[in-house]
Amino acid sequence: MEDQNPWKRAQAELKNIASKVKVSPKIVTRLTEPDRVVEVSVPVKTKNGLKLYRGYRSQHNNILGPYKGGIRYHQNVSLDEIKALSFWMTMKNAVIDVPFGGGKGGIIVDPKTLSTEELEEMTRAFTQRIADIIGATKDVPAPDVNTNPQIMSWIVDEYAKIIGKKDLAVVTGKPLELGGSQGRTEATGLGGAYCLDYILTKLGKKKPGMTVAIQGLGNVGSYLSLSLIEMGYKVVAIADASGDLCAAEAITDMNSIIECKKSDKDLWQCYKDHSDNAAVKECKVLEHKVDVIAPSALENVITTKNVANVKANFVLEMANGPTTAEADKVLNDKGIIVIPDILANAGGVAVSYFEWYQNMHNEKWTKDEVFKKLKSKMESACDKVLELSKKHNLTLREAAYASALERIEAGEYKDN
Ligand code: GLU
Repeated sequence: MEDQNPWKRAQAELKNIASKVKVSPKIVTRLTEPDRVVEVSVPVKTKNGLKLYRGYRSQHNNILGPYKGGIRYHQNVSLDEIKALSFWMTMKNAVIDVPFGGGKGGIIVDPKTLSTEELEEMTRAFTQRIADIIGATKDVPAPDVNTNPQIMSWIVDEYAKIIGKKDLAVVTGKPLELGGSQGRTEATGLGGAYCLDYILTKLGKKKPGMTVAIQGLGNVGSYLSLSLIEMGYKVVAIADASGDLCAAEAITDMNSIIECKKSDKDLWQCYKDHSDNAAVKECKVLEHKVDVIAPSALENVITTKNVANVKANFVLEMANGPTTAEADKVLNDKGIIVIPDILANAGGVAVSYFEWYQNMHNEKWTKDEVFKKLKSKMESACDKVLELSKKHNLTLREAAYASALERIEAGEYKDN
């Protein structure tokens, strides 16, 4: 069976690019391990007595600025996963050119098993345990899988109690009324749509009405689908944890489907309530015959098990680490273009940077301003990756790494 350990994959990706482009061996060595990993036990009083949950924060690297990256709550969180995700944040922040290093946190928990009060207690207890190592100029968490603005507001509040003053920029992805930025909620999905559209146009591959299949309809998949539909793409297949659905024609009323899913109805029921189009349930969105597939949920969903059946010409990696190393190789051999996670989903952290900047400078930008800046950041990052890919004959993933390493190296040596 292929290795699905994301940390081993992250290390292999670094080694691979170091063998292909000129980069200081000192930098490469530095990036092979996180600067610091903190592992804590998080107590929560539940109706069945006290329960302990395991939590992690990995601070991978801060050459370019404070450690930065989300916190996820998921039953499959592991130390190696968090280390890999923190490494990918270092790379992502360098690719999108924001003055941050990389970090990531997580708690091994299925948040659906907790009440709102327990979730708050867990978040506050975790904040107490990592309070010494976070802060606006040290390490700035944000939402990730199963975490949201409400959870960020509990962190801000608990952190303020601990340090004795409000430090709004200690996390990003906050609610608007608590110093959040306009456009942060839409940012990852919208940024992915900008990136896809730009790359297709630059490569001369854009055609009217291109079809897309989206796996995952959380925050990222939802805003990706809405943004792409607005830009003229046809979303014809969608999937969430309740199953896959392939429609006969473009799905038009995506907004209602997404709204409906917030109730306890499943995807299929919501689709039936809000679409007259025929659809089949027994399909696999990642194997559907479309122009673009966009895995937008978790790691390791394109593997040796299904990669031979991928029929799309483009993979837009909106999740972090959705493709295993072996599957990535098969995609490349088949001539399928992979727009890698550290580029495709960097819109989230780009607007996190805008939020942090607004907090630090006491500014408030309009949604239009934020979207304009996001578009320009995504397009510059895509340009640079395309340029390096052409210049050194690299895949877009390798070129994204090359771009990141170039910036990290320049950051490391700027004061010498
Ligand atoms: N969790 C998001 C990511 O993986 C955003 C991180 C952030 O905004 O700091 O990129």
